Parts: sequence; C-alpha cells; structure tokens
Amino acid sequence: MPANVHPKPVFRFAPSPNGLLHLGHGLSAILNHDMAVETGGRCLLRIEDIDLTRCTPEYEQAIFEDLAWLGLTWEEPIRKQSQHFDAYAAALARLDAMGLIYPAFLTRGEVKAIVAAHEKTGNIWPRDPDGSPLYPDRDAQRSAEERQALMSQGIRHAWRLDMKKAMQLVKTPLNWQETGDGARGTIPADPAAWGDIILSRSDAPSSYHLSVVVDDALQGITHVVRGLDLYHATSVHRLLQTLLDLPQPLYHHHRLLLDQDGKKLSKSSGSTGLKHLREQGLSAADIRRLAGL
Ligand code: GLU
Repeated sequence: MPANVHPKPVFRFAPSPNGLLHLGHGLSAILNHDMAVETGGRCLLRIEDIDLTRCTPEYEQAIFEDLAWLGLTWEEPIRKQSQHFDAYAAALARLDAMGLIYPAFLTRGEVKAIVAAHEKTGNIWPRDPDGSPLYPDRDAQRSAEERQALMSQGIRHAWRLDMKKAMQLVKTPLNWQETGDGARGTIPADPAAWGDIILSRSDAPSSYHLSVVVDDALQGITHVVRGLDLYHATSVHRLLQTLLDLPQPLYHHHRLLLDQDGKKLSKSSGSTGLKHLREQGLSAADIRRLAGL
C-alpha cells in the first residue's frame, strides 16, 4: 500500500447472544459507533455465539432490535462465530503444529479438588486476573502415549495452550497500545498470569480468546473498543496474535457501568436491560444520558 494511503479504521461491537443486552452494552455499542463516525471508519457487528448451549436465536434477535432502537447501523452480512468453527480449528491446528497445545482432561470438579487439597496444606494456589485458579499442570506433563490412550478411551477433553512453551517462543516483550479509561499508553502484556488458557472447549470447538483474535484479524479490525472487564484478557490476545502472526489492533477499554450496589451490570440485571428501558418508554437519547455520554 502506498505510504500516503491510510486504511480506514474498523471498529466492532461483539456481543454474545446469551442474555439480553444492558446499559453497559449500550455504552459499548454507542462508543464503537461514535468513534467510527468521528474517525471516518467502519463499524461492524459480530455475534459471538460459540457457546451453542447458552446462545439462542431469541437473544440474537433482541440484539438486533436493541441496536436498531439505539439508532445504530451495521454492515451486512454480519459475522456469526458459530458459522466459522473451521477458521478457529485452522488456528488451533497451527498452534498444535508448533507443539503448543495439549488435551486437558480435568473436569471443573477435579480442578477444584486439586486446588482445595493444595490450599488445605496452607499453600496458596495461583489465580488468574479474574480470580479463577490456574489450570494444574497435570495434563501438560502427560506423555504423548498417555494422552493418546486417554483420548482413545473417549474421555472428554478441552485443548489448552502450554503457556510456558508459548512464552519461550516470544522473543520480544509483548505490549499493547491503550487509549481507554484505565491505564493508557504502552501497556506491558502479561499472558503468563492466565496460565494454560483454554483454546477449544470440551463443549464448543473454540474458545472466546481464540475466536476473538482470529476474527479481529480476519475482519481487519483496527480498533477494539470494549469494557474494562476485558482489559487483562488483552494480554492473552496479544500473545495469540504474536504466535499466529496476526496484526495488533489498538485497544480502548471503557469504564464499566455499575448497579446501585456498585456491582458490574450483568445480563440478568433486569432494570438496566435495554429492552426493559425501551418498554418503559425511554428514548435512545435517554440511553446516552444514562450511560454518561
Ligand atoms: N463477546 C464478548 C462479550 O460479550 C465481547 C468480546 C470482545 O469485545 O472482545 O463480553
């Protein structure tokens, strides 16, 4: 591309149809839209529905209705992650060929028991930035024969990234450029804080982290605008982008809206649901005001 031609910024709003959108999603969608307008860029909508058990067509329809009510528009066709499992499988196969993934057989209950047994002896089990215990290294230590034997017995398994091996491949310090409401500037990424992250679930042929980096690259996303709850996940995204040779977008993590008790809004928080607010007779302008815009 000639040096004087700057690619158009590309933003995306990427909700999961596993519940109704709330005011916080409204803030995210409006910010993406407004920043695209301000920069002369494009704004895409992506439906992140890899969780086939929790995502429903009804919630998806509600997303379209809420966004249309907010006066937001998006390009067609929209990308629905459930239609692109092959793209995530290809990325997983690439990491496999690099020797960076392993089948993970421990159930949630087994992990819990291992952690509890360890902590009973007065030791602290390391937690990730979201507070969940890191995955024990038991499966990473298994021999190829042992893995094969367990898989041929049909034992359910996920696929996880071997974080230690992955970090050994990264030669330069990882960071990202941040313009949001938390710390800004060049932010050092610390993917190791997440341990052996899941890349393909036992009940879904991908994971949030894997599909989000694959799609951001495939869709040419230049600006990721999302809530501060995903700030630390960016460390993992930068690692996967580096391992998979994908470009890095700029990141803008915006403030989270809290409920009256100071808790983060959740999809079950009825009174701040966009549909509920619409049915109460509020307007799109009211939503902007309530979201502090
Ligand atoms: N699908 C994610 C969510 O609904 C957002 C992913 C992202 O913006 O990176 O929380």
